[in-house]
Amino acid sequence: MRFHVAMLIMLLGILPCLVIVNLFIYNIKQRSLSSEEIAISSQAQLLSNQIVTSGYLQDPSVNSVNTQLNTLGNIYSGRIMVIDSNMKVVKDTYNMYDGRTIVWQNAIESAGGSFCSYYDADSHCITVTVPITDPSDSSVIDGVLLVNKATGALETNMEFYRSVGVIIVLITFIVVTILALILSRSISFPIRKMAANIGKMHKAGSHKELEAEGFTELRNLADEFNAYADGMYKVDESRQEFVSNVSHELKTPLTSMKVLADSINSMGDGVPIELYQEFMSDITNEIDRETQIINDLLSLVRMDKSGANLNIAPVNLNELIELILKRLKPIAEKQEVELVMESFRPVTVEIDEVKFSLAISNLIENGIKYNNPGGFVHVSLNADHRYCYIRVEDSGMGIPEESLDFIFERFYRVDKSHSREIGGTGLGLAITKNAINMHHGEIKVSSVLGEGTTFDVRVPLNYIQQEVTNS
Ligand code: ADP
Repeated sequence: MRFHVAMLIMLLGILPCLVIVNLFIYNIKQRSLSSEEIAISSQAQLLSNQIVTSGYLQDPSVNSVNTQLNTLGNIYSGRIMVIDSNMKVVKDTYNMYDGRTIVWQNAIESAGGSFCSYYDADSHCITVTVPITDPSDSSVIDGVLLVNKATGALETNMEFYRSVGVIIVLITFIVVTILALILSRSISFPIRKMAANIGKMHKAGSHKELEAEGFTELRNLADEFNAYADGMYKVDESRQEFVSNVSHELKTPLTSMKVLADSINSMGDGVPIELYQEFMSDITNEIDRETQIINDLLSLVRMDKSGANLNIAPVNLNELIELILKRLKPIAEKQEVELVMESFRPVTVEIDEVKFSLAISNLIENGIKYNNPGGFVHVSLNADHRYCYIRVEDSGMGIPEESLDFIFERFYRVDKSHSREIGGTGLGLAITKNAINMHHGEIKVSSVLGEGTTFDVRVPLNYIQQEVTNS
């Protein structure tokens, strides 16, 4: 980046300078040439008047005119030709073309009354042709006067200006290069500093705020980076917490089993068979619990947030909920809890049947588990043109207000020992929330301690396919 910025500044500084210097030199040359042309033309005009008045075209031996022609030719280090109206050379100061006919375009044009000028850049000379007109009648053209002048002095001047131009370009180049280096360094410095800080943070594994100085864009970049790093840090923290919770939860049944097995071993031979059976049944319960935790963990892990592994199909929700209730009926009867379903209309929704029924099962099962004998769990189903609404309402023990924000967290239980007693793993609601989120739905809870809890679920009838973008 530094190199590119430096090159850009240099180009922007040097290119205009080159253009300006060249334009300047070109202009000076054009102005010098046109003032030369004007001077030669007026000199030629004077001479042409003398040529006519002296009758030189009829008698080219007029001495005074010849002297003037030769003198001017010498001063101009060039050549002068007097041409008559038939384009025949009457006088050539180089004595080479006398008596010959001239067919040069400019001379022909001047014979028609025009003033012409030609600059030959290769041989460095200007040639001006003027018509020789009759002083009494300027429309009568008697011939053409051709004056050629060497432009050596002008070329020397131009050489000087060119050298000055080269010096200006060189000085500009040096100044712009130094400026480009300083500017590119100061522009890239905050970025390099930021990169170095990120590198240091990465090496040290620290979670510090990245600071940025200078440009607003860099400060915005640092803010975005901090937000991203914050998110990653939180993900890492929750992953660590999850792993430690999982280890703890999996260890608890194993510890109980070990204690039970050690007790049986330490009892020796004379232990009554009933005691053995009781201990073995406790061990079986712990194994069931361990299996339950592992099953719940697997369900949770399978809930991929992206929804890439969802098996979406249209499902009749009335039938699905009835099926869930039928499956849970024996547990409800055991707990003496009444299960009631109320359906306002037939609802078909695009869902992953397995994951969605797991989510709703967990809610109804919780309604049964955290209920009192003689209580009820009321499930209602409704829909509008966009969403389906499922409400699971129970008359159970309720959830304290301060716990409502945490019940969807993994392994969170309001009352650990009670939840454990009734076979809770603390993963049920986390699974439910993940499953609802995967269907782009929402879940809300409201509860009154000692009176009951209500879960409201809202899911779009048509599954919203989300585009995966890499930008
Ligand atoms: P668990 O497997 O322990 O039931 P959940 O994630 O399903 O775990 O629930 C988390 C906690 O929320 C439970 O331990 C319980 O304390 C509380 N809870 C969930 N549903 C209800 C309910 N319907 N009534 C009262 N408390 C509930």
